[in-house]
Amino acid sequence: MKPLIHAAFAAVLLAILTSVACLPGSEAFAAAVNDPQQALAIENVTVVTMTDQQPIKDATVLIRGGRIEAIAPATAATVTPDMRRINGRGKWLMPGLTDMHVHLENIRMLRLLLNKPDIPASALSNDDVFLPYVANGVLQVLDLQGMSETIGQRVEIEAGRVVGPRILAAAMIDGSQPIWPVGMTRVAATPEAGRQAVRDAAAENYDAIKVYSRLNIETLEAIVDEARMLKLSVIGHLPGRESGRIAEVLRPGFGMVAHAEEFALHTREPSFDAIPQYVELMKRNGAWLTATLSLDERLLEQISDPDSLRTRSELRALHPMWREVVVNHNPYIASASAERIAALQKIVEFNRELVGAFVAAGVPVVAGTDAPVPGIVPGFSIHDELAALVRAGMTHRQALEAATRLPCEWLGVLSDRGTVEPGKQADLLLLEADPLKNVSNARRISAVILGGRYLPRQTLDERMGELMQK
Ligand SMILES: [Zn+2]
Repeated sequence: MKPLIHAAFAAVLLAILTSVACLPGSEAFAAAVNDPQQALAIENVTVVTMTDQQPIKDATVLIRGGRIEAIAPATAATVTPDMRRINGRGKWLMPGLTDMHVHLENIRMLRLLLNKPDIPASALSNDDVFLPYVANGVLQVLDLQGMSETIGQRVEIEAGRVVGPRILAAAMIDGSQPIWPVGMTRVAATPEAGRQAVRDAAAENYDAIKVYSRLNIETLEAIVDEARMLKLSVIGHLPGRESGRIAEVLRPGFGMVAHAEEFALHTREPSFDAIPQYVELMKRNGAWLTATLSLDERLLEQISDPDSLRTRSELRALHPMWREVVVNHNPYIASASAERIAALQKIVEFNRELVGAFVAAGVPVVAGTDAPVPGIVPGFSIHDELAALVRAGMTHRQALEAATRLPCEWLGVLSDRGTVEPGKQADLLLLEADPLKNVSNARRISAVILGGRYLPRQTLDERMGELMQK
C-alpha cells in the first residue's frame, strides 16, 4: 500500500465518522449461490485454456466436486442427468483472474487507518469486502499486508461461510519507524529481529514475506535468507532508496518487486538510462515484477483532476467510510502541487518504459493493483491494470497470462489452478466476447464459477446493486 498521510487523516476523519451508519452484512449471499457440489456442464463454449494450446472451439466443460472433470468436443461429451446445463454458445470460458497486490480490508485496518479505535465490528462485513473482487472476476488475491484478520478471512472462505477469492497472504516487515501502524506491519531493526519476524510469519501460516521501504540492507539480507530456509517467497519494495546499493537490495531470493515505481524511486529522479541495468539484475536473480501501472496512472489522474473521483461510479463499491476519505479527504489531492504532478507524470512514463523493457527481455511481469489505495477500487482495478499492461507493450494474450497462469506459477499453485484443464479448480469466467482479441472483453462477464459454484451475472449484479446503495 502506498503510504498515506496519517496526521492529516486523523483530524479530518474524526468528524466524518460519527455520521456513517453501520452496515449489515449479507450472509444470505453464500446461501443464494448454488451448492458447490452441484455438477455443471458448460456446453458449446470456446475454451481459452491459457496453456500453450489454441482455444478449443465448441467444447463442453464438465465440472464436478468443484473441479474440472473433463473438456470434450460438444458432440462427444457425456452430460449426466445430475448436471446443471449451461449454454455456452457464443461465449468464452477462461481462468479466473488473480490480483497480485491487494490489501483486503478488515475492521482493525479501518480503525488503524482512520485513527478511530471505536468503529464497531459490525461496520464491515466480509461479504462486502470480497464481492467486488468476485463480481469482477478476481477469484484469487495476494494480500501484501496480511494481518491476523486476513488469515481469518481465508478460513471463512475455505469453510464456505463466505463467498470470496482464494487468499494468499504476505506478512509485511518494515524497519524501525515503520510507515504503517504496527498491526498492519511488523518491525525489524536488526538482522536477528528480521529472522524472528520471518519465523513468526511462517508459524502463523503466511505464504510470503513483504519487505518494506525502511528496512536496513543488513536486515533485508537476513530476512531473505531466513525466508529461503522456511520456503516463504519474498516480495516487496526496494529499501535503500537513493543509496546506490540496488545490487545488494535486489539479491538472490528477492522473488518479486511489488511496483514498477520502486525502480523509478530508487534514484532521485527516475533513471531511464538505468533500465538496462535493472533488466540485467532481474534476469540474474530470476526476479519477477508486479507492475501496478494503473496505480500511478490513477494517482496522476486524481491529483490532476480531483473531480474525476466524483464521476467514477465504481467508487460506490468502496466501504462508505473509505469512500468518504477517497472522494472528499483524499490525502494525495491534499498534498498535490504542480511539482508533484510533473514528478508523477515522469514516473508513469518511466514505468511504461521499464515494463516494456522487462516484457521484451522475458522478465515475468504480473498484474497487481494495490487496491484499495485511493482511486483503486477492488475488483474493477484489475481490468484497468490489464489495459495498462497492453499499453506498455504486452500482447492481449500476455496480459491475460499476467493475471492467470503466471501468478499461479509464482505462487506455487499452478498444479491446482490458473489454467482451464481437467483436474484443476473450477475457478472460471464465462465471457460474452473473446478476451484474446481484446483483454477488455474480460470485463464482459456472463457468469463467474468459483470452486464450482455458479454465479450468473444477474445474481452478481443484484448483490453489487445492494452494496453500491450503501
Ligand atoms: Zn500495496
